Amino acid sequence: MPSAPPPAWIEVDLDAVAANHALLTGLMRQHNPAAVVGGVIKADGYGLGAAGLAPALAAAGAPALFVAHLAEGAAVRHALTAAGHITPVYILNGITAGEVADALAFDLRPVLNSSADLACWTRQSAAAGRPLPAALHIDTGMNRLGFDEHDLTRLIDDPSVLDGVDIRLTMSHLACADQPDHPLNRAQRDRFRAAAAIVGRGRLSLANSSGLFLGPGWGFDLGRPGLALYGANPVPGRPNPMRPVVTLKARLLQVRTVDSFESVGYGAAARARPGMRVATLAAGYADGWPWSTGGRGHVVIAGHAAPIVGRVSMDLLTVDVTALPDTLAHAGAVAELIGAHRDIDQLADEAGTISYDVLTRLGRRYARRLTGSAAGMSADAAAPLTEVDRTP
Ligand SMILES: *Cc1c(COP(=O)(O)O)cnc(C)c1O
Repeated sequence: MPSAPPPAWIEVDLDAVAANHALLTGLMRQHNPAAVVGGVIKADGYGLGAAGLAPALAAAGAPALFVAHLAEGAAVRHALTAAGHITPVYILNGITAGEVADALAFDLRPVLNSSADLACWTRQSAAAGRPLPAALHIDTGMNRLGFDEHDLTRLIDDPSVLDGVDIRLTMSHLACADQPDHPLNRAQRDRFRAAAAIVGRGRLSLANSSGLFLGPGWGFDLGRPGLALYGANPVPGRPNPMRPVVTLKARLLQVRTVDSFESVGYGAAARARPGMRVATLAAGYADGWPWSTGGRGHVVIAGHAAPIVGRVSMDLLTVDVTALPDTLAHAGAVAELIGAHRDIDQLADEAGTISYDVLTRLGRRYARRLTGSAAGMSADAAAPLTEVDRTP
C-alpha cells in the first residue's frame, strides 16, 4: 500500500461502537438484568470492516456475532482468533450440506431455518458423536427465512426432534420494528412468545436495533442489533440516541472559478452562476456515494455546507464553495461527507434511500482507519483464550 495520505477515507470509531453496545445493553437490562447484546456484522460489518468490528464487539462483551454467509463467518473467525476471542459466530442464512465441513473447521454455527436444515444438522451431529450447537429461527411474519407455519406445526407436535442438536438460541426477526405503531410488531412478539414457550431452547432473541426500542416486551434474552451499533438512528423521527461511529472524508483535488453560464459535470446538468467556485472531491458513485444526490445533497468543509452541484461522477463529486473563503476551500483541504456534522440518516433521506444502504455501499477503494482505544488491540494485548463464557 502507498504510504502517502489517501484522497478519501473512512474513520470507524471503535470506542463509539463499544459505547453504543453499552447503551443497548443498559436499555435491555432495565427490564431483564440477565439480558445480553450480540452484534450483527454481516455485509462486512455494514461496510465498515467486520475484521475490525468483530474483536471490538467481543471485547465490549457481545456474547455472539452474526453474519449472513459462511465465507463472512470464516473471515470473522480468523479476526477473532487473532485477537484471542472465541466468541460464537452464527450464519444467519444457514449452512448447506456442502458447507458443513467448512462450518466445523471454522467453528461456525448455523441458524436452522427449516426442518430440512434441522435434519441436516442432526445428521452432522450424529456423525460428530455429539449434538452440535445451532440457533433455531422461527418465522413469525417476515416470510423470508425461518421455520414456516407447516414446519413449526411439526416441531410443536414433536419437539423431541430437536434433541439431536444443541439449540443455544431461539430467534425470530421483526419486519416493521422501525414503525413502533405497526400492528405486526405486537403480532410477531405474541407469536414468538407462544412458539418459544413450546419449542424454545437456549436464549430467546427477537429484536434488531429498532426492536430494542419498542418496549420491554420485545427484548427477550439476547438483542441482535446491527445498524444502531454503527451510529445510525434506530428510532426514525425521534432524536438519534446513538453515538456517531462513521466519518467519511475526502480531499479537495481542485478548486476552480467557473465562467458565467458554463455548466458543471456530466449532462451539463448544472449551470454556473457568475463568480461560482466549484471544488472537486475524490469520491463518486463507484465509492458508494449515492448518484441520486446529484444537485441535492451537500458536504461540509470546515464547518460550512457546500452544496453538491451537478451530477455525481464515478470517481468525483463537485460542490459549490462560492460562500467559503479561499483559506478554507483549497486543493488539499478536507471535506466531511459523513460524520458528526453530516448525519448519515439525513444523507440517506436526501438520496432517497435508507442508512443501511448508504453504509453497506461505502466503497472498498476508501482507506479505512480504526480509531479509539480498541483499535490498536493485537493478539498479544487481547484477553487470553481461557475462561470465556461460550453460551451462546
Ligand atoms: C440484519 C439482521 C439483524 C440486524 O438488524 P438491524 O436492523 O441492523 O439492527 C438482526 N437479525 C437478523 C435476522 C438480520 O438479518
